[in-house]
Amino acid sequence: MTRQLRGGSSRNGLILANGGVLSYQHSICLSSLPQRNESPYPNGNGLEQAEPDSIAPVNFEVKGPATIEAPRIPRFLPLKVSRVPRGIRSRSLHARATEFLQSQDPDLSESQRTVREAISKICSDFPDSYWAQIDESHQFPTELYEALARRGWLGICLPQRYGGSELGISEAAVMMQTIAESGAGMTGASMEPRSRKIAGSLPLIAGRQRACFGVTEPNTGLDTLQLQATARRSRDGYVLSGQKVWISTAQRADKILILVRTTPRDRVKKPSQGLSLFYTDLQVPEVQITEIPKMGRAAVDTNSLFFDNWHVSMEDRVGEENEGFRMILHGMNAERILIGAEALGLGFAALRRAALYSNNRHVFGRPIGQNQGIQHPLADSWMKLEAARMMIYQAARLYDQGYTGGEYANAGKYLAAEAAFEGCERAILTHGGMGYAKEYHVERYLREVFIPRIAPVSREMILNYIGERVLGLPRSY
Ligand SMILES: Cc1cc2nc3c(=O)[nH]c(=O)nc-3n(C[C@H](O)[C@H](O)[C@H](O)COP(=O)(O)OP(=O)(O)OC[C@H]3O[C@@H](n4cnc5c(N)ncnc54)[C@H](O)[C@@H]3O)c2cc1C
Repeated sequence: MTRQLRGGSSRNGLILANGGVLSYQHSICLSSLPQRNESPYPNGNGLEQAEPDSIAPVNFEVKGPATIEAPRIPRFLPLKVSRVPRGIRSRSLHARATEFLQSQDPDLSESQRTVREAISKICSDFPDSYWAQIDESHQFPTELYEALARRGWLGICLPQRYGGSELGISEAAVMMQTIAESGAGMTGASMEPRSRKIAGSLPLIAGRQRACFGVTEPNTGLDTLQLQATARRSRDGYVLSGQKVWISTAQRADKILILVRTTPRDRVKKPSQGLSLFYTDLQVPEVQITEIPKMGRAAVDTNSLFFDNWHVSMEDRVGEENEGFRMILHGMNAERILIGAEALGLGFAALRRAALYSNNRHVFGRPIGQNQGIQHPLADSWMKLEAARMMIYQAARLYDQGYTGGEYANAGKYLAAEAAFEGCERAILTHGGMGYAKEYHVERYLREVFIPRIAPVSREMILNYIGERVLGLPRSY
């Protein structure tokens, strides 16, 4: 059965319904797209120049009945009174990060709290030692992925009729924060993207098929609209040629969602025009995939792709020809919110380990945490992480209400990544020499926390965005 879906302005309409959908960082199917509200700032979505107006209908295949039971959690339940946090003093030095997951944040809605508790429970089977071991052995975290898939969490934002839970980005952010905070970091939060095209493809929701996302190119970097990979029409489809870089999970992905140019740059009015999106088989001889050795998140492969004369069928094109960029544009705010939430998770995990260690480690006859030089930076980090958390969840709430402005999503991602980075660095210093030892895990957190500072958009580009779009300053690039 083929259905028509409209992206952009309808609640469930966009094929790539949000950044997570298109994201190379997320393991979950995110596709509900709420009604849009206007931003007070001009051109207010993402960093690019394209305007987020209406998108052409998209065809996609619905591939059969659900085989997994998606969690049914009603949204917008009344707020419960906060629970008393469990003190960390009583914890042992090597306690799992998952033991400290709390759901007492007074501002969580009942549905967010339910997600937090359910995900914490799943994550409690995956201690820090698991994450350290797969990082060491470069093994993909299949076990967590399957555990989430089995319980239907990969479809958290999908409409129920496609096997999803139909929750919002507010709940998805809680899910991603909780996974990262369990000690899983960016490794646990990074699996595969989901698109609306695959929203109806239950093998993906059930975790039986894998997909990756290809936008970044070696020669153009953050200047996405200048990307050079092309698709030219052939008799029965397209022929793709070009390169991509930093493509996460391409070693194991069955499919790729890829953005390429279908109309040369000099034949379109705006650079955002002339780009098209394809969702197609990846493991073909025409695509050469080479893993990039990297600093952290070793369990999740990241790759360069070189492809030439790669035949792709007409049905593999997603949406209208030349409209690809507009389709991904709508997902960008959600992507930033979710990555920001993951950064928060890492930051809180590091902070808890630091607080725990500084209570237990005695030097000069007292716990090191009794020294203000240790205590104050940690207190400062908690406040910064909490401030960022409020910004992230504010952005998520606005997104779920249909707000299209990018200032809160971008600022939230920026603040969360910076606060988390500082928190991870302080956690290492709090541990002294042991901070440098793998045994205490904080060095792994620090290696991973660079990712949300760099991707999917860098700190500098967010500052450019706020300077230009919010403050009305001249464009600097
Ligand atoms: C672990 C990891 C996984 C990734 N996974 C994927 C994936 O699956 N799919 C995918 O498509 N991409 C992926 N990426 C790519 C990621 O989105 C890019 O690395 C990121 O967007 C930055 O682009 P770049 O590396 O080309 O940096 P560049 O564009 O080369 O920029 C380099 C530096 O210059 C700065 N800079 C550039 N222009 C300006 C300016 N005008 N003003 C101020 N500063 C500027 C940038 O902020 C940055 O600090 C991944 C990256 C990493 C690290």
